Amino acid sequence: MYNAVICRYHEIATKGNNRTHFERTMLENLRRILRMELPDLRYRRVRGRIWMEFADHRNFNEQELEVIHRNLALRAMGIESYSPAIVLAPELEKIREVIKAAAGEIIPPAIEQAHREGRTLRFRFRARRSDKRFPLCSKDIEIDLTSLLGGIYGRENLKLDLNDTADITIGVEVREEMAIVWLESFPAPGGLPVGCNDRTLALLSGGIDSPVACYLTMKRGSPVDFIGFHSAPYTPPETVEKVERIANYLNTFQQPGRLYMVNIVELQKMVRDNCNPRLRTVLYRRLMFRIAALIARKRKIKALLTGESLGQVASQTVENMNTINNAVDMLILRPLCGQDKMETIAIARKIGTFDFSKEQVPDSCTVFAPDNPSTRVTVADAEAEEARIPGYWDLIEKAVETVEF
Ligand code: ATP
Ligand code: MG
Repeated sequence: MYNAVICRYHEIATKGNNRTHFERTMLENLRRILRMELPDLRYRRVRGRIWMEFADHRNFNEQELEVIHRNLALRAMGIESYSPAIVLAPELEKIREVIKAAAGEIIPPAIEQAHREGRTLRFRFRARRSDKRFPLCSKDIEIDLTSLLGGIYGRENLKLDLNDTADITIGVEVREEMAIVWLESFPAPGGLPVGCNDRTLALLSGGIDSPVACYLTMKRGSPVDFIGFHSAPYTPPETVEKVERIANYLNTFQQPGRLYMVNIVELQKMVRDNCNPRLRTVLYRRLMFRIAALIARKRKIKALLTGESLGQVASQTVENMNTINNAVDMLILRPLCGQDKMETIAIARKIGTFDFSKEQVPDSCTVFAPDNPSTRVTVADAEAEEARIPGYWDLIEKAVETVEF
């Protein structure tokens, strides 16, 4: 019965001069997300809402609605909520008919459900009239339609509830050119449309955390490029393939970013042969950050992004994070910093990266990993160890040169 989908977004984020920019980005994103599966969908932006309809105004079938739900719930960043909707001529009699038919599908089963729970179904109308020539004002539309349904289903079965506690809220909007009716609203990711902020470079491992950090950053408007480190031949080809799969999947959420894979095994051997083993993890991280920052600068990217959290592993004490941070002079975003692992896992499951991440594949950091890593590496300690490595900076440069731009 639905011939349109309506998307809502918070005005707050889109106020001011940037509003048009935000809205355009959001429209482009919706087109990108849906064009493969729904190529003949048309998009319109009207007064703080985005509309989607088929070119020939036909109804959505089950599969098409499934495509909408699957993509909007996770990928429509910047959208707060959406509803499959019925668009019709702005005439009271037509609106009544549509409400009768639509209510006929959802209200009887909902009444039964409420009866089974020993209560009365609570419902309400929310009407909005922007065409002042329409004979009824918003309040009167609500009253008219409420008494229409009350008459059909009986007041003992339907209780008017004007609060958010209503089981069913039916929305009606009357505009000059059309009226719109919807029966259900679904949450979308919210945040900001990806692409309305500058690009960042994510250090992407095969773990659970960094893909979630990427998602959260996209949801704040920044598209993400990726850099992954491996240690072939000490890590198998699967290490690289896993990161490639995750990056490809994350690219379905954004205007696709590039993936740089960098082999750091020569540097790791130098660390192994010249430095205190207890400092290895921190020294590995510092060289990863340095390579990432150099690549970011070449790409004119101004921030790095990691899946670091506080206190999760030995390298994530405040002291060690400070020492790692100190390796580069660049903004580093750590959206997971205050998250518990369980919270991160819940997001990973929801966005679909968990199944990729849970596959066990050796990681670069575990190559020559010490048994007893130090939790208190000072900047001076790290610098002293790095000074023992002959040609440290040349090796860093060489690693960067392996990347194709
Ligand atoms: P993750 O689950 O993302 O691997 P983690 O909790 O296992 O995170 P660490 O392994 O200590 O934590 O890594 C912290 C962060 O450093 C990662 O989130 C990622 O951003 C970066 N990182 C670690 N290893 C690599 C790697 N091999 N390639 C790219 N980035 C890495
Ligand atoms: Mg890891």
